[in-house]
Amino acid sequence: MKYEIGMKIMTKKPHVCGSVNWEVIRTGADIKIKCLGCSREVMFPKYELDKKIKQDK
Ligand SMILES: [Zn+2]
Repeated sequence: MKYEIGMKIMTKKPHVCGSVNWEVIRTGADIKIKCLGCSREVMFPKYELDKKIKQDK
């Protein structure tokens, strides 16, 4: 999965606020994403985020 800033992604499991929709706000070896439900920001290593999100392609 290639991440780009501003990209919307969906997680398999919902966040504590109930939202599964996130926006990528920083890329690199670690990817920072912001929850679109509660605006909380979290950072994951790329390989870990790959396992957490729903991938269409
Ligand atoms: Zn949230």
